[in-house]
Amino acid sequence: MTNLDDLQAISFDLDGTLATAELDDAVWFDEIPARYAARRGLALAESRELVFADYRALRGHPRWTDMGFWFERLELGDWREAAEGLRHLARLYPDALPTLHALRGRYRLVLITQAERKFLDLKLAVEGLGGYFDAVYATPNDLGSLTKDAAIYGRVLAALGLAGAQALHVGDHPQQDVEAPRQAGWRALLLDRAGSRQGPDVIRDLRELVARLAA
Ligand SMILES: [Mg+2]
Repeated sequence: MTNLDDLQAISFDLDGTLATAELDDAVWFDEIPARYAARRGLALAESRELVFADYRALRGHPRWTDMGFWFERLELGDWREAAEGLRHLARLYPDALPTLHALRGRYRLVLITQAERKFLDLKLAVEGLGGYFDAVYATPNDLGSLTKDAAIYGRVLAALGLAGAQALHVGDHPQQDVEAPRQAGWRALLLDRAGSRQGPDVIRDLRELVARLAA
């Protein structure tokens, strides 16, 4: 990736890029099935089967990623109380804050995530993460989409008042974080923490991003 002189804004994906999946996994795979098991008097394994079947049946529902929706639907009690008990599982990758700290003031920093607001807010509260961003977009809540496609990136670019070459997105999903923004004219880098991909626009951790921008 060459000629980053015009770069004005850097946008980050959240999950898998800045934040780990521990909180999400605990909600979907443990907390919701455990609460459902308790309410119905089921063994946990049986509850998981039923709950996971319901997840599959409703895939694509506009509130599919909203834990509040599932707490209502399965009558599991207060999602806020459950979220409070799991808040400690909202964690950032060790390179997240140092990277944002290094880039703050030099670029406008943006977050574009398909995370639903309830998860997003828990993660933005970790170590002051939310304070680093000039703009935050939770696509299910702010842009009416469960995924990040080219239209989403086009809308964010317009909202930022920038041309594509002035904006760079970084994330861990080849389609949603690289192909989609490129289709909207953005620059994009793939974060591959597992190190399974090679290429000029692939980075292994976020410190590589800082190094490239300093070069
Ligand atoms: Mg991701």
